[in-house]
Amino acid sequence: MVQVKLLPTPEQAAALADTLHRVNAAANQVSAVAFEQFGLRGRETPLRRLCYGDLKAGGLGAQATQHVIKRVVDAYSTLRGNIRAGRLGGPASRRRRKAESKAVVFRPDAAHAFDDRNLSWQLDAGTVSIWTTAGRCKNLRFVCSPEQAKTLAAHRKGESDLAYRDGKWFLIATCDIPEPLVREPADWVGVDRGIVNLATTSDGDNHQGRRLDRYRRWQAHKRAEIQAERTRSAARLLKKRARREARHARHVNHKISKQVVAVAARTGRGIALEELSGIRGRVTVPRDQRARLSSWPFHQLGEFIAYKARRQGVPFIEVDPAYTSQRCPRCGHTERANRPARDHFCCRRCGLAGPADVVAGVNVRDRARSAWVFVNMPQPAPA
Ligand SMILES: [Zn+2]
Repeated sequence: MVQVKLLPTPEQAAALADTLHRVNAAANQVSAVAFEQFGLRGRETPLRRLCYGDLKAGGLGAQATQHVIKRVVDAYSTLRGNIRAGRLGGPASRRRRKAESKAVVFRPDAAHAFDDRNLSWQLDAGTVSIWTTAGRCKNLRFVCSPEQAKTLAAHRKGESDLAYRDGKWFLIATCDIPEPLVREPADWVGVDRGIVNLATTSDGDNHQGRRLDRYRRWQAHKRAEIQAERTRSAARLLKKRARREARHARHVNHKISKQVVAVAARTGRGIALEELSGIRGRVTVPRDQRARLSSWPFHQLGEFIAYKARRQGVPFIEVDPAYTSQRCPRCGHTERANRPARDHFCCRRCGLAGPADVVAGVNVRDRARSAWVFVNMPQPAPA
């Protein structure tokens, strides 16, 4: 996706606004028909039969009419998907019953899609020509960075959304960017995920441990205070806090994953993580800390690292997490007593000592080294 800002003249802006209002009014009209006739199960063909004539007679062009109907069908299918996945709660939840009891409504300035027939790009001139209810709007200027211009020229494909936000107009263009080839890694960065240090690499880099832990504990404390009140406004406040906490965790995970992937890319290495299933079984934590562990989005951190690695052509591998916290990377001796304290590793056989999470990161790295050789070993010729 590439988002460019439009610089319409006042007349052009008025035409764009009228266009969005008209298509969204039409979408609401189609949505009402769909809900009345088919509930949440509206399909494209019967809806087109029912609505196409009216919309076209109302002044929408053929393309816009098709798009409006498609948007309505998509909105209902998204809603059905959300209900099926339980994202609106169970069958008795108020949110779900409300959603099921009425037609989907589109905001007057909700974004609308334009395809190559009703939107064309003049990249060199920095303009687009777009269909509006006031006729074709030509020489509509847009601005974007040189980087975005390159991406648009090379990869723009299919539809773009016209969107209006905070008094500004945007086009959000779909770009089909091929993923870079994964290159052969020179070595691996092993990453250990933990509670206090969220991510520790085999290089010894530590990512945002204690500060975040403190933030989470403070949030938990506030939550308990609010919970004690048991009123409706307290419930609302709790939800708001939960959302804020999730946003914060997401932000931290983005930051950590970006740093880890940048180091790997710069040094020509791949990234290795422990397979997720092992994390909870592996770590033993006092009971009062268990809630914190299970609620921390380890999973999201792994997903972000995998995603960013793929986008940069950095190899990514998940390894067996068993005993990565107890094994000595120097002599291989594995014993629970190698880890006398949660933070500290000290091999009972050879005496190697160090921070426990760095040792775990090194073990993850070593496992990736052998796993990768195994995967890429040429198959022996049949005898
Ligand atoms: Zn040892």
